[in-house]
Amino acid sequence: MMGPTTTSSAGEFTTHHPATGELFATYPVTSDHQMNELVARARASAKWWSALTFRERRKILLKWNSLLIANLQQAVALIVAESGKPISDATLEASLACEHVDWAAAKAHLYLREHYRSPGLLMANMSARVDRVPFGVVGVIGPWNYPIFTPMGSIAYALAAGNAVIFKPSEFTPAIGLWLEKMMREVVPDHDLLQVVTGAGEVGASLIAHGVDKISFTGSTATAKKVAAACVEKMIPFVLECGGKDPVLIDSDADLNRAADQTLWSGMANAGQSCIGAERVYVHEQVAERFLEILKSKASEIKAGVNYGAATRPAQLEIIKRHVADALTQGEKMIGDHSSVGERFVEPVIITNVPEGAISMREETFGPILIVNTVRTMEEAIAKANETSFGLAASVWSRRNGQKIAAQLHCGMVSINSVFTFAAIASMPFGGVKDSGMGRIHGPEGLLEFTYPRSVVKPRFHLPLEFTSFKRSAFADKVITTLGRIRHK
Ligand code: NDP
Repeated sequence: MMGPTTTSSAGEFTTHHPATGELFATYPVTSDHQMNELVARARASAKWWSALTFRERRKILLKWNSLLIANLQQAVALIVAESGKPISDATLEASLACEHVDWAAAKAHLYLREHYRSPGLLMANMSARVDRVPFGVVGVIGPWNYPIFTPMGSIAYALAAGNAVIFKPSEFTPAIGLWLEKMMREVVPDHDLLQVVTGAGEVGASLIAHGVDKISFTGSTATAKKVAAACVEKMIPFVLECGGKDPVLIDSDADLNRAADQTLWSGMANAGQSCIGAERVYVHEQVAERFLEILKSKASEIKAGVNYGAATRPAQLEIIKRHVADALTQGEKMIGDHSSVGERFVEPVIITNVPEGAISMREETFGPILIVNTVRTMEEAIAKANETSFGLAASVWSRRNGQKIAAQLHCGMVSINSVFTFAAIASMPFGGVKDSGMGRIHGPEGLLEFTYPRSVVKPRFHLPLEFTSFKRSAFADKVITTLGRIRHK
């Protein structure tokens, strides 16, 4: 079967509509020589951009955002063509991405302006200020599952913090990246504030090798480790947003109808290609039968090609096939089976009672597959939810115990009686722990992520006691020890 992307020896590659396999577009592979030039241009633009005030940067970013919103249908068409998702999903994705641009632009001054700190008793004569300094050039390496929303969580925040950005979209979905650059050039024609490089993984590696000042990566844990190793080699700081094996915990007092409805959507929407999508469900035995009944009935109304689109990356189909086979061998079929994994589309699959050690319970499937296991207590559900190398997000369904359960989950994000919504609340940090990555995008944490703190101190007046001089007196030593004794006794 032909993949949507093929790289030719002529330094070009093509993308194809995932739903039909039809050719969509041809792109150049950015060469090392070009990368060198692009990074130099970005560095010059970063100098100009970081010298602007927050208000000036906000004005430009909001102008860019207005242009994105005014031309949203163009963005939607490009996303649909290369990712294979339905128009409605692409519209929601693009609209939410614009919300993040708006928030980052509007709030940067609140979280990144200079802050004064108390100097403490010993240094009472000093003024102590912390500046947040943009890194300079931020390299954003993006995935194919949410080709505008996910990278925008880095692009908008890095720009609002005063950096220039070079974006390497996935080789499966480069069109939207080039469109974002084009829109930015209409607003800022004289500067290279947002540039896009195209190609496969080597181009991402080349971006790191050409000395950008920070990397923000989204994708698989395996690639994240390579990216991190390459960054460490050059002492480039990084933020890693990786995959998950997100659990759903359903307590005996849950609203089962809503829980089933939203868990189904969380697991199957976007053809299951969501890092924060439900993959494992732990349901309390008291309500398991009823929950499964509702889930089965709702799932039987869902169809690939109608409710969600094609699998974006053909190689993913092999992983999904392997996981379905593994789960079917060890568990019990409820909806769908091997035949649900087609040439381009995957029909919903629900399997129950799969042992915890199975591959399908441990590795990210990234397909419309849900595994539902029954637990005797919520303590058991919590222990099993945490028993994974991932720690991205989780969803908890309970009328009374949501907060209590959420507090015991080892992950970066929890939604109680809901799914996904933390990603749409721009002020909430997004990211995971363990194999799901490190660092945060979105919210104040996402703005801080694209700056480093610079501590600046200055005497407001001079004390008769000099602590930082070879002329320090015995009296100064006595003052230090006496103050220490009084304060810390
Ligand atoms: P990858 O992690 O390989 O790719 C993510 C991005 O990194 C892409 O832009 C990719 O380029 C780039 N890249 C690849 N190799 C390197 C490298 N050595 N240095 C720098 N950049 C590099 O994801 P895949 O597309 O291979 O998907 C594999 C799995 O990852 C999926 O099965 C899924 O489980 C998971 N995934 C998770 C996502 C999430 O949101 N957490 C998103 C996407 C995938 P290119 O693709 O152009 O080769």
